[in-house]
Amino acid sequence: RRHSSALYKKAKEVMTGGVSRNTIFRRPHPFYVSKAKGSYVTDIDANTRVDFANNMASLIHGHANPHIIEAVTEQLHRGTAYTLGTKIEIDFGELLVERNHNFEKIRFVNSGTEAVMSMIKAARAYTGKGKIAKAEGAYHGTYDFAEISQIVKPENWGDIDHPNSIPVTFGTPDCVKNDVIIFPYNDIERTLNLLEENKNDLACVLIDPVSHRVGMFPIEEDYLVAIYNWTRKHKVLLVFDEVVTYRVTYSGAQELYPVKPDMTALGKIIGGGFPVGAIAGDAKIMSVFDPTRKIIKQPHSGTFSANPITMTAGKVAMELFDRQAVDDINNMTDIAKNQILAAAKEADVPLILTGAGSMFRFHFRHKAPRNYRETYQCPEERKLIVDFLDFLFLHEDIIMINTFACMFATTITQVEVDRLTESLFKGFIRYKKEIHSFVK
Ligand code: PMP
Repeated sequence: RRHSSALYKKAKEVMTGGVSRNTIFRRPHPFYVSKAKGSYVTDIDANTRVDFANNMASLIHGHANPHIIEAVTEQLHRGTAYTLGTKIEIDFGELLVERNHNFEKIRFVNSGTEAVMSMIKAARAYTGKGKIAKAEGAYHGTYDFAEISQIVKPENWGDIDHPNSIPVTFGTPDCVKNDVIIFPYNDIERTLNLLEENKNDLACVLIDPVSHRVGMFPIEEDYLVAIYNWTRKHKVLLVFDEVVTYRVTYSGAQELYPVKPDMTALGKIIGGGFPVGAIAGDAKIMSVFDPTRKIIKQPHSGTFSANPITMTAGKVAMELFDRQAVDDINNMTDIAKNQILAAAKEADVPLILTGAGSMFRFHFRHKAPRNYRETYQCPEERKLIVDFLDFLFLHEDIIMINTFACMFATTITQVEVDRLTESLFKGFIRYKKEIHSFVK
């Protein structure tokens, strides 16, 4: 660890806390990469680890995919961004629109945060109303409004009938939290009551069909249908955050439900490894962006929006992520989940795996959680999970997402799945006593 440790000392002199994204921070210091290929990442101290995080779920084909490298290299020689359009953005837009019949029009941006922000602003511009409703605990990026109640705990989450709107960032103005209605995920009655109370002021209901931070369980169909029907009745938009969940099927987790979101935010895998976001949905609603209109309700731009590098990489990545590839990665993930559950049983550790498609999250529980409050990790549980993940990273050379989740890539095979299962088994045995001490 010598080289990473030394580099971190230098990093601390340059960047706040030594990092530019808190995600990469870990004890005792962040680790620095020298190279990566497929599902393997080698750091500057020559440790090679198997990657089940894939840059927070964004690398659907793992690292350094040769087809993406070739296409991007060719584009690099022709320039990286212009104050003009490119054919590649149209071709890529067409590909995504053809994959999902709810996507009538699309616009590209550079991050999931930006996609969610632009989508919320479009909902407001279209409806002329200011409030939004979102689920307690759900992560939708760092736009002020989308960030409310992303992190709450028993001390501040409030009455379940009227969950508190809690800002993440200190200094967030009260007007922001007052304009965000928080509802409990998968709770029809309470959610509809809260929506009803605010029906005249709501621009949209923002929801993620398999919310990672709520607990990564698929949203219950009758719940989603109830919200959808309510929004139709009250002319409130239903907008989806599929920044992570687009990977679940060929056209997003929304394909699994009998509802039609008005708009969807995309990101992560559609960038082929480069920064990306997109807003896709109803043509009439998205006309708020239209520069040919007399009144442009939402002037939308962005210096690097639809840049040809991201568009090129994204198009290749999504072409490779065809129906067969989606089936294959989802099957490999199911194999992994079954093996891991069997290992937990053998180790006598209570484990529930939630998730959908090629993503899953671990919960040391006897019973599957259904909402954020049931998923909430008390401080001892959180400490144990951090220790567990450190054990996997430092002793077993396994990289996982710090919420205790795996996001597979198409490069993961039975070999990596077996490695993962064996390492987890060792971890289950090592931490068994601690796990049993807080699981009721
Ligand atoms: N929405 C969801 C559901 C996400 O998981 C994320 C990123 N983890 C975002 C939005 C924000 O995306 P980005 O980090 O690209 O801004």
